[in-house]
Amino acid sequence: MKLYLDGHGFIYPAQQIAICVFPDERHETVEKKPDDGDYAVISLVHEGDNIYSECELSRNGEVYFGKSPTENRGENPLEYARHAGRAVRTAFYKAAVEFLGKNPPWGAVTGIRPAKIPLKLFEKGLSERETDGVLENEYFVSAKKRALLIDVARCGLRFEAEREPNDFSLYIGIPFCATRCEYCSFVSHSIEKAGHLIGPYLDMLKYELSMYSKIISKLSMRLKSIYIGGGTPTVLQNKQLDDLMGFVSESFDFSDIVEYTVEAGRPDTADIEKILTIKNRGATRISINPQTMDDGILAAQGRNHTSADIIRMTENVRETGGLAVNMDLIAGLPGDTVLGFKRSINKVLDLNPENITVHTLSIKKGSNLKATGAPLPNGEDVSEMVDYAAERITNAGYKPYYLYRQKYISGNLENTGYAMPGHVSAYNIYIMNELHTIISAGAGGVTKLVSRDKSRIERLFNSKYPYEYNNSRDKLIGHFEKTEEFLRSFL
Ligand code: SF4
Repeated sequence: MKLYLDGHGFIYPAQQIAICVFPDERHETVEKKPDDGDYAVISLVHEGDNIYSECELSRNGEVYFGKSPTENRGENPLEYARHAGRAVRTAFYKAAVEFLGKNPPWGAVTGIRPAKIPLKLFEKGLSERETDGVLENEYFVSAKKRALLIDVARCGLRFEAEREPNDFSLYIGIPFCATRCEYCSFVSHSIEKAGHLIGPYLDMLKYELSMYSKIISKLSMRLKSIYIGGGTPTVLQNKQLDDLMGFVSESFDFSDIVEYTVEAGRPDTADIEKILTIKNRGATRISINPQTMDDGILAAQGRNHTSADIIRMTENVRETGGLAVNMDLIAGLPGDTVLGFKRSINKVLDLNPENITVHTLSIKKGSNLKATGAPLPNGEDVSEMVDYAAERITNAGYKPYYLYRQKYISGNLENTGYAMPGHVSAYNIYIMNELHTIISAGAGGVTKLVSRDKSRIERLFNSKYPYEYNNSRDKLIGHFEKTEEFLRSFL
């Protein structure tokens, strides 16, 4: 859709709300007022100290209007930008609701971390009831999603209170998988094609980890959590996995660790021997990710395992003991139905994992699904799947504790992590709420440096692909210098 901004430059809020309300479309800002096709003209009106915004939305030849409430422009440029952005967002949203004939569940909330809105309101001293009122009246969020946001924000607040300024976490990426899933948009290579890169990759990874460990010990930082993700880390041979995890425990002080997760997403890659290695090397949590318990869909998505393999692997993990289990499911996979998804939820609940993460399919560039254009369940069905998951999982005793949204997500919904009491995943809260620095080692890793008072965040991007990463020593040296300089400046 074409977006024309009349008399102002608030492109970002206009584009964000357009993506949220019409997630399946591409939106471009145009210089000239459009007079045909689908478009939105968004104006910002100044009247003395007050501002408001109006939107004229043209869809399929019909025109719809929206207007924001009038509000004070604010006392300084920052406040003005905030108020004007909100006005632009609200006017567009109101026009869109006229067209849609209903309020989308997430209302006018934009951004990938919606729980930051109630969290900030809590931090300002607003009660839960007042926060709920803001979410309802300013962001138009549905009652179900407001309750979800407040649950998640409440949990974030607890971690915020326990935070120490010298905390950090460690992410280690293994971007290799047994085969590539059709929906995958991660940088992950099948071992069939890229297996020869694994040896040099692990060497570079150990080099990167060793350099970070020196910086961390010089600055006396406390390691709170480790997450080995991917890809599928268990695609490594047992000896390689044991060697890598052994290297991590020798390089970092584990005294303050509250959680250590290893993703073993695919049961075809994790036998008892590897599960034992994971446990014996200090992990506390393992992620087994069925995505669906429907064997036909698993096969169609290129996953070389069945739901029976998931059940067998979970039994192996339980027999080994000492590891909390997370299971990921995806709502909206091609070929899935509301009934099929409900069956998947119930089968996963039968396995009693400590965490369940319900993702909504998001089709991004780089996935085979994007290229093939496979037919998908419609937005209403996906919404029913997500609602069922929320109700069934919470009725089984779990609580939502983290959530995020993505661009192009099916039905404009969300991804939610649920935990049994006492099993909230610390790493997920740290990363989602940007509570402390996360050092990210490996290809595609993005180290996020967070200042001790959380007022500044800087990102360092590793080389994306393993073949680039394997030759990226000079780039990494630059990252080590920047990391030390950044962290030292806040001592
Ligand atoms: S297991 Fe995960 S990372 Fe690997 S191909 Fe499938 S979706 Fe991608």
